[in-house]
Amino acid sequence: MFDETPDLAAGEAMAVASDRLPTLLRLARGLCAAGVLAWLFVAGLAGFAVASPDTSFSSFVESLWPPAQARGITRATFDAAFKGVTPDPALIGIVDRQTEFVKPIWENLASALSVQRVSQGKAKAAQWADMLARMEKVFGVDRYAVLAIWGMETGYGAFIGKQNVIRVLATLAYAKYQGDFAKEELLDALDILQAGDVTPAQLRGSWAGAMGQTQFLPSSFKAFAVDFDGDGRRDIWTSVPDALASTANFLKNQGWSGGQPWGFEVVLPKGFEATHGEESKFAPYAEWKGRGVTRPGGAEMPGSGEATLLIPAGLRGPAFLVTHNFKVIKTYNNSTSYALSVALLGDRIAGRPALVGTWPVKERVLDVAEAKELQTRLKDMGYDVGIIDGKIGEQARDAILTYQAKSGLVPDGFPTLALLQRVRAGH
Ligand code: CA
Repeated sequence: MFDETPDLAAGEAMAVASDRLPTLLRLARGLCAAGVLAWLFVAGLAGFAVASPDTSFSSFVESLWPPAQARGITRATFDAAFKGVTPDPALIGIVDRQTEFVKPIWENLASALSVQRVSQGKAKAAQWADMLARMEKVFGVDRYAVLAIWGMETGYGAFIGKQNVIRVLATLAYAKYQGDFAKEELLDALDILQAGDVTPAQLRGSWAGAMGQTQFLPSSFKAFAVDFDGDGRRDIWTSVPDALASTANFLKNQGWSGGQPWGFEVVLPKGFEATHGEESKFAPYAEWKGRGVTRPGGAEMPGSGEATLLIPAGLRGPAFLVTHNFKVIKTYNNSTSYALSVALLGDRIAGRPALVGTWPVKERVLDVAEAKELQTRLKDMGYDVGIIDGKIGEQARDAILTYQAKSGLVPDGFPTLALLQRVRAGH
């Protein structure tokens, strides 16, 4: 994700980090998906410091031996993994590169859906058509969602990261970064080496320890990686079938419903009012139809099923009905911007029509300080905004929406400067 290609993947990925803090909670619960440690990393930069490389690092490594041994790691595997490993001072440099700049969702989408990424995705879909058909059959997961994750995570395998995963995780664990999280991932990485799927030299990944074509953390590898090309090894680094099937297996285990779309664009009727809890409230398609919601171009809603409304830029931007599968994409990376990028990139690769709605590209989005101020002020007024982190996620959008409705404004949950000024004025 943000490895050797800071200008490309990093810029985009970093931008998507904006509403990613809830990821931390998920990680803490040990449910970490591939590709999320990167965000954890970005989110928790403050206060991160690595002790200077000294003998205490080797003591730290040795302290890992008892738990490693207890889970069946041999001394030979352990020694080979840590041979020549020192803390990585470059991690500090990565930290320093981060900025507190929040990109609007439409800018993230513009880069996610670049002409190049769409055309490469189409080429990959054709190249791997037979394998993808088999993958869909075995796992029941839409090939376009998997292709889009591949495209988003590593540019279809072009940027998979060359860092020594043991070194990265050992550095983070040594620094006690995010408690025991990195340590647990490190022990999982040792399990992978013990299982013999890869050698220590092959265990490469991002600056955050995410590995392979679709950026799995070691814990995700252990739980979900599969051998899909039949060579007897799980290789998410160089085997496209293994990497994509592993991703499909991950999504399947997060609850993907085969045959269901992620969602689709909708057109809201004039005067539509969003209501409290809309983003988490699933309703049958018939109910949405009843509220005047239609699909562009006269397309029919599915005959059965349910969806929630997603209006990431408020009522001035495109609207979507999204299914449980959209929430499943968010388990890969807990960001609305990321999930919508995956969903829409998949649509483009599949040749489905582009959006009819337009984004309010002239709107200036709140920066982190302003967003924090808005969260703080709303909280002081008694609204439930979640964690005050300067990132406007689902909970904060819901609080804004409730405030708007109570204030006689058109409720859509989108934070604007005008809204902040109104809150400042004490309305
Ligand atoms: Ca294999």
